[in-house]
Amino acid sequence: MGKILGLFSLIIISIGLILGITLSLSQEKDKKGEIMENGSENININKIKETNITVTFDNNQYKDGLKTSWGFSCLIKGAEKTILFDTGGDDSILLENMKKLEIDSEKIDLIVLSHIHGDHIGGLDGFLKTNPKVYVYLPKSFPTSLKRNIEKYGTKVVDVQKPMEICKGIYSTGELGTWIIEQSLIIHTNKGMVVITGCAHPGIVKIVEKAKNIIKDKVLLVMGGFHLGNKSSKQIETIISSLKNMEVKYAGPCHCSGDNARKLFEKEYQKNYINIGVGKVINTKDL
Ligand SMILES: [Zn+2]
Ligand SMILES: [Zn+2]
Repeated sequence: MGKILGLFSLIIISIGLILGITLSLSQEKDKKGEIMENGSENININKIKETNITVTFDNNQYKDGLKTSWGFSCLIKGAEKTILFDTGGDDSILLENMKKLEIDSEKIDLIVLSHIHGDHIGGLDGFLKTNPKVYVYLPKSFPTSLKRNIEKYGTKVVDVQKPMEICKGIYSTGELGTWIIEQSLIIHTNKGMVVITGCAHPGIVKIVEKAKNIIKDKVLLVMGGFHLGNKSSKQIETIISSLKNMEVKYAGPCHCSGDNARKLFEKEYQKNYINIGVGKVINTKDL
């Protein structure tokens, strides 16, 4: 009887061990790409030499001949993957602007969507018709119906919740905010971080703080929609001084930042203010 009991407990222990190992292995797999809040060892060796950012969609004009419309989208080159950050509000305008800027949609590997508003995801469907082979990195909290709609094209969807490395030197802040959930993109270059925001609904200062928490490096440039249209000049000036205190070297507010904020940023940042609109190309080697 004792022997049988012994054998029985041995079997139970073995099953438990096997289950435990499989479970921890699968948890390991789920965490792939996610990085710790205080950074990973790879963070400093994965910096990229330089990046080239082209604004493909914005409500501000930079280059003649391109169409403006409410929304934001930009193309990021220089890392191991070519990335389209957001898709603007309208696919025909996005694709037409890309064509005029000589951007081949088939050469784009990844799309990162900042948040669910139509002026950032409106161009997605039309884009996927031209290149369904991209991977779409989106906030995990996006509705399942929207994710299934993307998968309908045969496109892979990647949920982002925690800060993660998207490819070498390129990171997502992970989901931020409470009401409107948003992720921002971080490009880690030899000269410091470039932080790109969609609408910055969680707050531009909070986003930069988060980026600094993840990467622990200086901020070369913050650009994108800063969502300051509803703020007073005084509030905007406080935000500018917070960014300056965080040693943000260059600032490029566009899209939903508001004309007043753009003016105030230009006044405070002077030669380090970057006037951004559709067609603007920024290369970090020039900064
Ligand atoms: Zn928005
Ligand atoms: Zn927006």
